[in-house]
Amino acid sequence: MHRIYVLILLFAFKLPLFSQADRWQQRVKYTMHIDFNLKKHQLNGKQSLLYTNNSSDTLYKVFYHLYFNAFQPNSMMDVKSRTISDPDIRIADRIAKLKKSEQGFQEIESLKLNGKDVNYQIVGTILEVTLTDPILPLSSVTFDMVFKAQIPLQIRRTGRFNKEGIEYSMAQWYPKMCNYDYQGWHANPYVTREFYGVWGDFDVTIQMPKEYIIAGTGILQNKDEIGYGYSTQEPDERPNRISWHFKAENVHDFVWAADPDYKQIVYKAHDGTILRFFYQPGEKTTENWEKLPVIMDECLRFINSNYGKYAYPEYSFIQGGDGGMEYPMATLITGERSLISLVGVSVHELMHSWYQMMLGSNESLYHWMDEGFASFSANEVMNYLKFKKIIPGEPQQDPHLKEVNGYIIFALSGKEEALITHADHFNSNTAYGMASYTKGEVLLEELRYIIGEDAFNNGMLEYYNTWRFKHPNSNDFFRIMEKSSGLELDWFKEYFVHTTHTIDYSIEDMKGKSISLQRIGRVPMPLDVTVKAKNGKTYNYYIPQEVMRGEKKEDRFFNNFKVMEDWTWTHPTYKLDIDIKLNDIEVIEIDASKRLADVNRENNIYPRPIMQKVEVE
Ligand SMILES: [Zn+2]
Repeated sequence: MHRIYVLILLFAFKLPLFSQADRWQQRVKYTMHIDFNLKKHQLNGKQSLLYTNNSSDTLYKVFYHLYFNAFQPNSMMDVKSRTISDPDIRIADRIAKLKKSEQGFQEIESLKLNGKDVNYQIVGTILEVTLTDPILPLSSVTFDMVFKAQIPLQIRRTGRFNKEGIEYSMAQWYPKMCNYDYQGWHANPYVTREFYGVWGDFDVTIQMPKEYIIAGTGILQNKDEIGYGYSTQEPDERPNRISWHFKAENVHDFVWAADPDYKQIVYKAHDGTILRFFYQPGEKTTENWEKLPVIMDECLRFINSNYGKYAYPEYSFIQGGDGGMEYPMATLITGERSLISLVGVSVHELMHSWYQMMLGSNESLYHWMDEGFASFSANEVMNYLKFKKIIPGEPQQDPHLKEVNGYIIFALSGKEEALITHADHFNSNTAYGMASYTKGEVLLEELRYIIGEDAFNNGMLEYYNTWRFKHPNSNDFFRIMEKSSGLELDWFKEYFVHTTHTIDYSIEDMKGKSISLQRIGRVPMPLDVTVKAKNGKTYNYYIPQEVMRGEKKEDRFFNNFKVMEDWTWTHPTYKLDIDIKLNDIEVIEIDASKRLADVNRENNIYPRPIMQKVEVE
């Protein structure tokens, strides 16, 4: 009897631990030994994976990603790229044309669970494993794998010989356990984009011919043995092959790159983070890459204070890949760029350390929480650099207006798809890009407009501090913003994430001192209305939406506003009664800041500008 009481008491005390922010997650610990065969561009790997099932489910199957298999003719990536209306020119029909020796593959030579063979089959880019001994809840098992891989010619992100001559860009290169979370398995085939992984520790040893310099995720363990700018000590005599030993803690992926020509700049940032820069010296690189360390340190300072502290001891900017792609503790970027472009891509990829590497939302489902948030914050960082005159360009009061306008144009094209669409399932690459990058950024801009800047800034920091290393979903993000602002925001989330409905408000008329406003678009929004009087004075009127259950407290872009009565969304019209007569007014405008993503701005102004009719012959 006593024992039962103790158990009940314990359970009662434990309950608060099961709040949202303590959602369970799986855990991995990889130990890998890689032997590189330069002639064949192949590697032989041994992988030991300690896998911890923290769920309350018994797992009868597990799945691994075999990303390299995408680079074979007729793969899902190949066919999608050849049938989509707007193919990525980096892929186009290049996979279909690969010769056998140029293709990528990952083959499994053996796989054991706790020392016993398991059944598996390779289905495209996914390894399906059926377990005879299931993995019980709250237990750990060890998978031992022997695998072989061929590094494809660089097509997308990963591969050999990128267009700037980097020999090996090694992303998505090892069999990687798919994520299993509260929404089940995420065995997404590699069709186009977006990644999701399990956090854990990596211990990776790579054996390469001595001419090669390796950069990547993690901390090099044998610096003195390696030299190459990692250590002041250059070893006198190297064996023909060198083992590079890296360890990385609490990351959900591991990237590396190898080239004999890499030069490394090591820079200690203001917060102690070691920044590494690996590039191939030359006319198109050296000058700009040498300027990069000081600039990125300044970026890190801004990011740490606005979006939360960087959590890892090191970060490497590595010339490689086919544009810019984010990985834990590192990025692969093409390096032959103007300074502004080099800084731009470096800042964007660094921002992914926050939204993908440390927050780690499921990018397939919530791509906009990664790309959109990275774009928004990177834009803020770039604007700050311009403000500090660290890079050329005019700083703007609001650096997101270009994206707001871009979104409006695309929304009107009829080709928009809802943000909630799975990253691989968009009908066109443009629709994906506009949703995840542009509308994702615009979503934050609209949110800031709705809740005010202080609540927004505090919310962004709180979001990071609450959800760091916990895979937040869209609801988790909006709950933080609700708490930060004291406003209800579910209506905005539903409209902006789940639909392609648009915002359109208009000023219809003014009689006496009463302005008639109309909601034409389906998305309800609070309105900032500015009245400019003929005497030169400006008056700001703020109309909250009733469903918000409150109002924003301040707004840098909309000073000294008078809070008016709520607008109830079911009512298409609203009467705004003010103290100024029409005759004394020069102009009335809805959202003079142009932040509101209103798809028709012509009717936001009253009296309407007179359109001159021009006779055309
Ligand atoms: Zn990105």
